[in-house]
Amino acid sequence: MKHIGAWEEMDKSRMQAYHAMDVWDGVSGSKIHFDGVDQAGNGGLMGAIGDIIPGSRFSASRRQYEEAGVVATMCENSNTTSALLRRLQELNNASGSGAGMAVLDKTKVSSISLGPPASTDISNPDLSQWPIISTTTHCPLAARLLVGADGANSPVRAFADIPAPGWDYGQHGVVATLQLSQPYPLDAPRTAYQRFLPTGPVALLPLPGARASLVWSTTPAHAAKLKSLSPSEFTAAVNAAFRLMPVDLNYILGPDAGSDAPSSELAWREQATNPASTGLPAHFPRVEGVQEGSIASFPLRMRHADTYTGHRVALIGDAAHTIHPLAGQGLNLGLADAQSLAKEISYGVEHGMDIGGSFCLENYGAARWAANNAVVGTVDKLMRVRDRLFGAGARASRYLRGWEG
Ligand SMILES: Cc1cc2nc3c(=O)[nH]c(=O)nc-3n(C[C@H](O)[C@H](O)[C@H](O)COP(=O)(O)OP(=O)(O)OC[C@H]3O[C@@H](n4cnc5c(N)ncnc54)[C@H](O)[C@@H]3O)c2cc1C
Repeated sequence: MKHIGAWEEMDKSRMQAYHAMDVWDGVSGSKIHFDGVDQAGNGGLMGAIGDIIPGSRFSASRRQYEEAGVVATMCENSNTTSALLRRLQELNNASGSGAGMAVLDKTKVSSISLGPPASTDISNPDLSQWPIISTTTHCPLAARLLVGADGANSPVRAFADIPAPGWDYGQHGVVATLQLSQPYPLDAPRTAYQRFLPTGPVALLPLPGARASLVWSTTPAHAAKLKSLSPSEFTAAVNAAFRLMPVDLNYILGPDAGSDAPSSELAWREQATNPASTGLPAHFPRVEGVQEGSIASFPLRMRHADTYTGHRVALIGDAAHTIHPLAGQGLNLGLADAQSLAKEISYGVEHGMDIGGSFCLENYGAARWAANNAVVGTVDKLMRVRDRLFGAGARASRYLRGWEG
């Protein structure tokens, strides 16, 4: 973002770095804590398995954590896309009339096909091997290079006939922006939280002030129920996801709950739940509300295109790969694709190459496919291990999940 001049356009007041991460098992309460500070207050990324209780680890000041390093920075997708669009506009204005880029807003690509067969009239360009894009609002466009940045069901990928094998996880990801009861405490590092439930992981990721981002992977039935709840009942369900035992949560979101509201269930079930048995971290904040219109859900899938390039076609982002949001890496991979492809196109332009030809695109495909495959494979294996450990219900699984005991 810095390299292309878009960093300056980002709304920094809506970005939040965090310096620690608490991950725990919803069944056994076993946990792991990552941060950049050891017990003596020195830097270096540390992982501690066991209890995350105030004391030696939190005796380091917020400043020590901040100096020791950032685990990740939270930034809403709309912040990134708005910054990029502003930068594009700025570059367009600077390039003068006629030489700039055209952004066709509020337009749908209705079809993509190859151009007509070559004519005998040599004054007509031969577009028979060029993608021709028909849109709902403009005349057809011929593309020397068509970049498919059109998401998991990519029409560009379908046009190029590139297979993208994979599978559905049978889960939906529910996202929302949450309001917390208070800003993060000053005596603890800014922390991201993730609890592994038998139905999938639920994560609370810090945003500036007293806000946080929710990513909750769960069954399609639970996701549908969550989306049907009023804001206050949705808020109660989120608190339940972090504070109650899985059996309680399953009741609250399941068909047996009938008209029992999550808020009333949470009120009495929480009193009867020992936080130590759920593994709830000491500084875990209370969720007070949800930002209007921010709740959405998406089916979770793993897909990886066999190749990222075809004749006059390149795929980037989710068009090329989709992964489980467990590690929050999907968009990051897409941004790295864009950076890599831009580098190859620049090289091609500087050296007079045809930017739609395989000679120009092959380095992009080779570099990004291998790098993404490592991440796609690792995240998928984590999901399979999770399914085995939770799904089997075997005694050995329970010991493995809580192995520090
Ligand atoms: C629940 C959940 C949580 C996630 N959390 C994270 C996270 O924390 N960090 C992270 O890095 N990633 C995360 N991801 C992944 C991230 O959201 C995606 O990887 C990213 O949005 C993909 O961006 P993209 O531009 O490639 O595709 P998309 O965001 O799908 O954009 C594709 C665009 O193409 C447009 N389009 C498609 N077809 C047409 C057409 N025919 N005509 C015109 N336009 C068209 C669509 O309208 C859309 O605007 C998460 C994903 C999920 C599901």
